[in-house]
Amino acid sequence: MTEKEILKSLESTVFNAVRHVADLDKIETYVIGGFVRDMFLGIPSKDVDIVVRGSGIEMAQKVATKLGGLKVSVFKNFGTAMFKYRDVEVEFVGARKESYQRNSRKPIVEDGTIQDDQDRRDFTINALALSLNSETFGHLVDPFNGLEDLKNGIIRTPLEPGVTFSDDPLRMLRAVRFAARFKFTIEEGTFEGIKNNRERIEIVSGERVVDELNKMIMSEKPSLAFKLLEITGLLALILPELQAMKGVEEKKGKRHKDNFYHTLQVLDRIVPFTDDLWLRWAAVFHDIAKPVTKRFDDKLGWTFHAHNHIGQKMVPKIFKRMKFPMNDKMKFVQKMVYLHMRPIVLSEDVVTDSAVRRLLFDAGDDIDSLMTLCEADITSKNEDKVRKYMKNFKVVRQKLKEIEEKDKVRNFQPPVSGEDIMEAFGIEPCREIGDIKAAIKEAILEGEINNDRDQAYRLMLKLGQDMGLTPKMKD
Ligand code: ATP
Repeated sequence: MTEKEILKSLESTVFNAVRHVADLDKIETYVIGGFVRDMFLGIPSKDVDIVVRGSGIEMAQKVATKLGGLKVSVFKNFGTAMFKYRDVEVEFVGARKESYQRNSRKPIVEDGTIQDDQDRRDFTINALALSLNSETFGHLVDPFNGLEDLKNGIIRTPLEPGVTFSDDPLRMLRAVRFAARFKFTIEEGTFEGIKNNRERIEIVSGERVVDELNKMIMSEKPSLAFKLLEITGLLALILPELQAMKGVEEKKGKRHKDNFYHTLQVLDRIVPFTDDLWLRWAAVFHDIAKPVTKRFDDKLGWTFHAHNHIGQKMVPKIFKRMKFPMNDKMKFVQKMVYLHMRPIVLSEDVVTDSAVRRLLFDAGDDIDSLMTLCEADITSKNEDKVRKYMKNFKVVRQKLKEIEEKDKVRNFQPPVSGEDIMEAFGIEPCREIGDIKAAIKEAILEGEINNDRDQAYRLMLKLGQDMGLTPKMKD
């Protein structure tokens, strides 16, 4: 980027207002971090971090006034303040020096110089600062050659990596995230620093870990991040269940596929088709029980019997430990894990109406997500096989549409209620009511009757009579 281009990028109402206040108060001021990095990468950013040699809070208030009296949020404990100008979030902080204690990510903070502030940054590419004072406006302050690293695609810590990662182990996940997002390489010493300090991830809260993982999952090619997590040794500590999927065993000349790499392929394959974070997590977890269900059978070879069922049970345990939300999102992931083989099994056989109806009934409104997951799950190297599956899935999707239009079982509501049955036979709540309702549902799913009140009512009368109940005579 030429000096002219840098100045052009800083040509905004916000930077002009900051410049004005900084000049007036004679306070050294810089824009720093992600915004500058993204500017050099040509990525537009809506997060602006400003560092001042003085009070960030005071500067924020003065700039906000200059911009027409914007509302400033002040975080006194952190010495920071921020406001939103149009859709840009601008945060101000005083330049600071940090020192860490062994058992906490929370540093002891004191006022410092811009260089002190750059020392505490996680990576050289995140430590770039541009001056916002008039005499030096747009000058780059780059004590660690961050620009060079940015050009060469390198993630490197500004100080000794061991210290940087031991001080704040969250930075290890950030290194992986940035490397994966920008397709950069983690410099050797930095990589070793992560490996050596991986156990320190323990002191990072589950919520922060999940936050980073979610960002990785939402990137363009999440497999890159998971591969890095694996080779740094972090994956075994954060998600041992996923780590356990790595590897291939061979017995009597039969090998199973490496389920870790298969899972990563499924995850990458689903990305273009969904931005739903939880469907992407479902891709990560769909085969999670394969290692614990793996058996070798002389006739069948490798089997993973009921891995969908066991996997569904593992999901809440993983969610709880990792501090994921234990809500309907978790239930959705469980459902996807449990049902993930159904469309495949279905497409291998003649696609019968009743099988399609049952799938619609079980998946309900999540049927499209389930089909998306299943299509991503076809990862065979054999192109013909993949083509055949995809063709069959098309048939399944078409059939799903036709049957739903006809039978409406996607959000199945019993066409005959318990009250109807009690009323018809003049009986109190009892087991027979449940039995009749279940038999009606079965008959609909099997296609013996339509999902229609009259037909269901007639069947109810017959079933009741078969059980020895007598219909009440209507007046
Ligand atoms: P993005 O928001 O695109 O993920 P970013 O670099 O802006 O990237 P933020 O988390 O907003 O990420 O952080 C802003 C800046 O603060 C970073 O560029 C970096 O200089 C610094 N920073 C953030 N977290 C840390 C940390 N844990 N250790 C050291 N510096 C950090």
